Amino acid sequence: MSDYELLEKPVTELKGVGPKMAQRLHKLKLQTINDLVFHLPFRYQDRTRVYPIVQLRAKQEVLVEGEVLQTDVINSRRRIMICQISDGTAILRLCFFYFSTAQQRALSQGVRVRCFGEIRYTSYGAEIVHPEYKILDDQPLELDNTLTPTYPSTEGLQQRTIRRLCETALNYLYAVDDLLPAEFIQAKGMMSLAEALRILHTPTVDHSITQILAGEHPAQQRLAFEELLAHHLSLLKFKVEAKQQKAPAFKTQQKFFGQLLDALPFNPTNAQQRVIAEINHDIKQASPMVRLVQGDVGSGKTLVAAAAALDAIEAGYQVALMAPTELLAEQHYQTFTDWLKPMDLEVTWISGQQTAKQRRRNVENLLLGISHIAIGTHALFQDSVEFQQLGLIIVDEQHRFGVQQRLRLREKGYQGGQYPHQLVMTATPIPRTLAMTAYADLDYSIIDELPPGRQAITTVALSNERRLDVIERVKKACQQGQQTYWVCTLIEESEVLECQAAEDTWELLKENLQGLKVGLVHGRMASDEKESVMAEFKRGDLHLLVATTVIEVGVDVPNASLMIIENPERLGLAQLHQLRGRVGRGTVASSCVLLFQAPLSKTSRKRLDALRKTTDGFKIAQIDLSLRGAGEVLGTKQTGDMQLKVADLVRDQDLLTEVQQLADQVIAHYPERVEPLIKRWIADAEAYGSV
Ligand code: ADP
Ligand code: MG
Repeated sequence: MSDYELLEKPVTELKGVGPKMAQRLHKLKLQTINDLVFHLPFRYQDRTRVYPIVQLRAKQEVLVEGEVLQTDVINSRRRIMICQISDGTAILRLCFFYFSTAQQRALSQGVRVRCFGEIRYTSYGAEIVHPEYKILDDQPLELDNTLTPTYPSTEGLQQRTIRRLCETALNYLYAVDDLLPAEFIQAKGMMSLAEALRILHTPTVDHSITQILAGEHPAQQRLAFEELLAHHLSLLKFKVEAKQQKAPAFKTQQKFFGQLLDALPFNPTNAQQRVIAEINHDIKQASPMVRLVQGDVGSGKTLVAAAAALDAIEAGYQVALMAPTELLAEQHYQTFTDWLKPMDLEVTWISGQQTAKQRRRNVENLLLGISHIAIGTHALFQDSVEFQQLGLIIVDEQHRFGVQQRLRLREKGYQGGQYPHQLVMTATPIPRTLAMTAYADLDYSIIDELPPGRQAITTVALSNERRLDVIERVKKACQQGQQTYWVCTLIEESEVLECQAAEDTWELLKENLQGLKVGLVHGRMASDEKESVMAEFKRGDLHLLVATTVIEVGVDVPNASLMIIENPERLGLAQLHQLRGRVGRGTVASSCVLLFQAPLSKTSRKRLDALRKTTDGFKIAQIDLSLRGAGEVLGTKQTGDMQLKVADLVRDQDLLTEVQQLADQVIAHYPERVEPLIKRWIADAEAYGSV
């Protein structure tokens, strides 16, 4: 039997694994011995040393020893037993909500205890709630000499059991193949895969525990590297497969787009021209373009989308443009109608809020090919919407859509053996190496230049106590002809409450700003109501627009130059950056006031500081990354299936360039290793690749 077959044996081969246990393991996608070998702990408990109480930090899980000073039962709302211990450096409180009289008696003054648990700090100082504890007698209690791993588990499967199973599976470690090229491992001085796995399942005290707990141990780096490589390869494979599919080649002269440029009052920036050329090259090919365009807020992505759309139309195909919100879709609808009308092109609006009757005619126009471009929200991709000949899908502000959703769209456009081209646009500024990994299945363009003449946005953070001053400032600005947004943010994730807050603020501001025209827009208003308010604001008929975060993406009113954001501490950095991007679009100097609720937490303060100091989306993204981690920034949606077991996109950023290089080498020189690598690290690799 080959080593590989050995590892592929079912878990039931192991002692003590019956059908019931196998079923539970199955739930964790653990079917073979190999799966167990690669089932890694997600954290470790350190019971290898005793910490001095004075050194304890919140959230640490630690072992502490001390002498009981006193134990009391307090009768407040419920009975609590509090045992204070001291190790001579400081005092630690042990709190018990469930306890017996015997326990209370045993923890009497002078008794020595060793306990383990998570530290928290209250006004009483350090404490552990329900610690595990042992009473020490004269016999010295030994310390563990390995860290205790905690594995991902499931109901009915105790840590003890899964620990034992993984340890047994380690007997098969010798059979694990190293799939990284030997010369690479050698050149990098990396450890073997088997060694890395052994260390991570059973780290001993010799291994730097701090490194392991921080995820920076060479063993973790070895695995993280391979895992990132596997993900990269799987995305590249997906890209190669896409390139082998058929798509309509748009051989056009850019006649329509030329007409549009002639009509516009500005010239495209160099960056826009470059990206348009990259897209143009792609859509002339007979295989589908799958391109991500990243450009900071206000960099002019809509024009780039229009260039692609007009080429598709010129080649005789239809275009679908999808936006994440009604408001943004509506705005695109207006822009494209303005731009395309002089060319006699038909723009169709598809919305989830349309009545069936309103929708019918629009849908018909698409099916008959009377309409050239359909604009809408995800309603565009319901089954009832069919195209005569869809050639291009544009997805705006992609960070709101998941990878899977994007792939489904493509299938939707599959017709007559051809796939539509796909253009995905996002303002989420992701550092380049990270983007190259998270989006390795896409080609990547970046608009790294803003249109000329943009004025800097000055950002200030003021506490809510200064509200009246802020209202005064709004009044002055509006009287001088500047338009203003007043943004009310989410309260406890409730849209209803958010809209309510916006309505209250609207009433209040109307009262305080008599003589000024104050509008209101929020997510619970009907589409046409929203539209007409936005149109009024755009025409300059409203001085002030009170809004919820519905205006976060895409809204474009160049004359608006002041924005007040209420409770900015509730929002993420990226979202704040997006919101703020609604001003600074015209030629007047713009400002943004972050009207926060004091006191601010440390992280909130850092976030608001970052916003005050820079308007550069990339810098903000970097700060966001370091404050929140990659999963959050990319959104689990955006990383889609990129669920990493060992690697962490932020912590391991330094590995990414090398991962990309090695991926190319593996494909060139060791193509037979691509599949095994993907299979090893990505559980449902098949499902993933074939969507
Ligand atoms: P994004 O979608 O990238 O945030 P938009 O496409 O909404 O940005 O463009 C922002 C504003 O800049 C719009 O008013 C648009 O008409 C304008 N604009 C786009 N390109 C240019 C350019 N090259 N020169 C001047 N203004 C431009
Ligand atoms: Mg946009």
